[in-house]
Amino acid sequence: MNDVRNDFTFLKRKINGKSIIYLDSAATSQKPKVVIDALVDFYNNHCANIHRGVHKLSQEASLMYEEAHEKVAKFLGASSKEEIIFTRNTTEAINIVSHGLNLKKGDEILVSEMEHHSNIVPWQALQKAIGIKLKFIPVDKEGNLDLTFVDKNLSEKTKLISMTHVSNFLGVINPVEEIGKIAKEKGIKFMIDGAQSAPHMPIDVKKLKCDFFACSSHKMCGPTGIGVLYGKKEVLQEISPLINGGDMISSVSYYDYSLNKLPWKFEGGTSNIADGYAFGIALDYLSKLGMNTIQKHDQKLVKYALGEIQKIKNVEIYGPMDANKRCGLIAFNLKNFNPHDVAAIMDEKENIMIRSGFHCVEPMHRKLGLNGSARASFYLYNTFEEIDKFLEVLKYISK
Ligand code: PMP
Repeated sequence: MNDVRNDFTFLKRKINGKSIIYLDSAATSQKPKVVIDALVDFYNNHCANIHRGVHKLSQEASLMYEEAHEKVAKFLGASSKEEIIFTRNTTEAINIVSHGLNLKKGDEILVSEMEHHSNIVPWQALQKAIGIKLKFIPVDKEGNLDLTFVDKNLSEKTKLISMTHVSNFLGVINPVEEIGKIAKEKGIKFMIDGAQSAPHMPIDVKKLKCDFFACSSHKMCGPTGIGVLYGKKEVLQEISPLINGGDMISSVSYYDYSLNKLPWKFEGGTSNIADGYAFGIALDYLSKLGMNTIQKHDQKLVKYALGEIQKIKNVEIYGPMDANKRCGLIAFNLKNFNPHDVAAIMDEKENIMIRSGFHCVEPMHRKLGLNGSARASFYLYNTFEEIDKFLEVLKYISK
């Protein structure tokens, strides 16, 4: 994997004479040169609006944008591009579902206690607006879900189970296949927040038995401003779009409209064409390396880091202690230290860039009695040497 470092220009940058050690890919990944070149190429040579013109540039741009949907379909194991909606990000994808299900007062949604705010707040908004009920599957400090709660709390009122595949705080890989099976047996819809899994492991939405799967390009070596909602065709046909306007219709009269076919029914207005195209190029890049290879690399790094970080005095780690249950990140605290100070010292001393705070998972932090944590996350361009440097500074702070 060391060769991939040549693909990332940021690694050549020096700040105060030192290289950057980027351990914040769970927030957003860096972008390889091919993706940046694709954006420049689109704007230099292919820029036009899509689905609107008979001229060559519009036809070309439409094709490039549609092909990107096909690449995502293949990457996630969907049946066709009809099941792939481009959104701004994971958050918007989840909002399409929370809006589209047309929930009623008394309907119930099951999420876990470790969810990102993106998979809590859209449901809380509906709780306030129309009186749906939000139920939380209990999670312990190691990231174990109480699956008996799921069994006990499913009824005809339950309209959806929605859960993160990998926690961006605890790092745990959740047993989503098992939950998908339970949901399917009971005829309940199942959504997976794949923001932290899609960048790191092969995804097959059919194997996962989910009705919806959401992820963000910017965590997968692609540009910001583009994300995905996968939905099963028959389910997408049932639900209503979030954005109404141009391109999502097939015909409009003064008093009525009919909806466009999938997936365009959900992509109202001019799409993020260039970023969508470049996202497809990012997926080509990841696929060429191989998602299995990327997963093995990230797991080796996390296993090493987890083993070593435990040896440092006064470090408290959150999430599973078995590295095989983790994906790509470790959140921790140094006793008596504010996590922002830990991150600031890392940055100041060695340009080591980690995240600190709640990571948009405030409720689970509060449940564990925490005011935040520091988080190091790893991706395909990180090395053991970088982790050693991170551990060295952590030891220095701890002393
Ligand atoms: N879910 C999880 C698990 C995440 O880690 C994130 C990003 N931190 C999101 C959802 C939201 O992603 P975005 O900001 O791209 O919408």
